[in-house]
Amino acid sequence: MKPLIMTPGPTYIHEDVRKALASEIINPDLDLNFYEFYKDTCTMLQKILNTVSDVLILSGEGILGLEAACCSIIEPGDRVLCIDNGIFGNGFGDFAKMYGAEVVYFKSDYRKAIDVKALEDFLNSDSAFKMATVVHCETPSGITNPVNEICPLLKRFGILTVVDSVSAIGGEEVKTDEWKIDMILGGSQKCLSAPPGLTFLSVSQDAWQAILERKKPITGFYCNLSLWKNWYSEKWFPYTQAVSDIFALNEAVQRLLKESNPQERHRKISKAVRKSVEAAGLELYPLDGFSSTVTTINIPQGITFNEINQSMLEDHNILIAGAFAFLKDKVFRIGHMGENCFEDKVYLTLKALNQVFIKHSIKINAAMHEVFVKEMSK
Ligand SMILES: *Cc1c(COP(=O)(O)O)cnc(C)c1O
Repeated sequence: MKPLIMTPGPTYIHEDVRKALASEIINPDLDLNFYEFYKDTCTMLQKILNTVSDVLILSGEGILGLEAACCSIIEPGDRVLCIDNGIFGNGFGDFAKMYGAEVVYFKSDYRKAIDVKALEDFLNSDSAFKMATVVHCETPSGITNPVNEICPLLKRFGILTVVDSVSAIGGEEVKTDEWKIDMILGGSQKCLSAPPGLTFLSVSQDAWQAILERKKPITGFYCNLSLWKNWYSEKWFPYTQAVSDIFALNEAVQRLLKESNPQERHRKISKAVRKSVEAAGLELYPLDGFSSTVTTINIPQGITFNEINQSMLEDHNILIAGAFAFLKDKVFRIGHMGENCFEDKVYLTLKALNQVFIKHSIKINAAMHEVFVKEMSK
């Protein structure tokens, strides 16, 4: 039996989505129906993103969106502001550098959401940036940043806003246009609960202008978004589309849109998880900005991540996540995103965790699964 995957992506894939993945394929270049199908999928994504901007689906996992944004917008020597309060935030700067940017980091406390006031003070002293990168949900640390305040602020200074929302879209509220996001980046395998393999992104008028009016042509092909400008009117894709993955994504997005308020479901579950963990005497890694899609918990004294992970898997057949870089062996994470964000699955996970801690003689002040049930019935 496959383990229950309670990781922050990839997430469990619903049977209907798996069936769509297995549908007979069509020729995406020659069958005109596919252009309509692709467009319908983009239209549904526009609804989720709350945008009228163009949305594109690219064949490649989430990281492709980050790289495509940098590749298409940045010209060598451009100044890029990298807003950094975590591993993904900092890493975004590396992609900007690969495409020749002069990167300036705005650093904020790694255990807290971005300090918007401090960012404003910083911009008052230096705002000569073509573009800024910011991460919506810092998946390793479980922190959601206030992109609703950050992006309008950046735009006030005339800076293009590129948001990595890979682990937030679908689970957190996203208002791309209202929040003045020029490019928002998402992936198929997180809260949308489709198979890993696709990126999707929005491109605002300002972003298109930056892409199309460069002085130096874009280097490369696969990350070059300018090639996509007229895909629909010309009925032409830069490369053969991942038909099966897009069938699955379409089904997954339909499932999400059928639900009246998935963000509320994520908010409620995540809050109950935090209450349970804290009641047990465990410590959350974030001090504020708690994510609705992933909870990051400090590993208590007397146990290692490997011990937690191994017992969860061997005794309970549940897979949770650790973290990497400076958080490696310091925290463990429960992903409650998309199809994983339901009371039954989270209950089983907390009950198993509770037993794992008892087995390893770690003091637990309250039964996590019991607190969780109480919180959910409030
Ligand atoms: C998952 C994720 C990505 C995609 O990267 P992978 O590590 O390759 O899955 C990008 N950004 C964020 C914030 C993510 O959570």
